[in-house]
Amino acid sequence: MEQLDMLWKYQDLDLLMDQYVADQRNSDSRKKLLKLKRYLVKQDNYLVRLDREAQRKSSLCDKIRQECDTIRSSMETEREKLSTDEAPTMVDLDAMEKSGIEMKGQILKKEASLKQLLQEMKVFQKKLDDIREKVARAKKDYINVKKDYDAEVAKMRQERAGVKKKRDSLGAGIDPPLLTKYRNIKASKTPVLSVMENNQCGGCFINLASLVVQKVRNGEKIVECENCGRILYYKG
Ligand SMILES: [Zn+2]
Repeated sequence: MEQLDMLWKYQDLDLLMDQYVADQRNSDSRKKLLKLKRYLVKQDNYLVRLDREAQRKSSLCDKIRQECDTIRSSMETEREKLSTDEAPTMVDLDAMEKSGIEMKGQILKKEASLKQLLQEMKVFQKKLDDIREKVARAKKDYINVKKDYDAEVAKMRQERAGVKKKRDSLGAGIDPPLLTKYRNIKASKTPVLSVMENNQCGGCFINLASLVVQKVRNGEKIVECENCGRILYYKG
């Protein structure tokens, strides 16, 4: 049947068009691009978290500094009491000495934790800088790969459009109901046409009844495989 021969050729071009899309979906540059994108999104989120943590540490530093200042000014007040004309009693002096020692101890403790915190921030900052550098490099890579990818897509589209033109001009000679049937089957399975070989459907490999085989061979009617629904094609 001439119509089926044409549809067979139509299918070849149709499958070639699908292949262009599949190849592009699997292209190395697309994979690279997606990988870089995932990486950048992940690092962006990470940077937001690190920034928040850096801010938290920095305000903790401020708080400790403020507390030190408060203690120092209390010490200053105590000292000023000593410089007034009024002579302190021994009990006063004792109490003042005791609280002086205590305040000094508090300051030392706070200064130690401040020192540790500053050290942590330094390490933290280094980590942030490292990530920012890596992200900047990945962004540069992304731009370059995107350029390759866009060129690839443009080339693919052009080639595919050429194939589509050929396919459509071939399709113009095919009976519209047959083409509609083809498209309907294509919506759920591909390829639509299956070659009948050794009395089997080439799509699902089921053995066909001899009546069906006869019908397909004489090619007067369009015969679909009872099992998979493909249009059976006999190359002769
Ligand atoms: Zn079948």
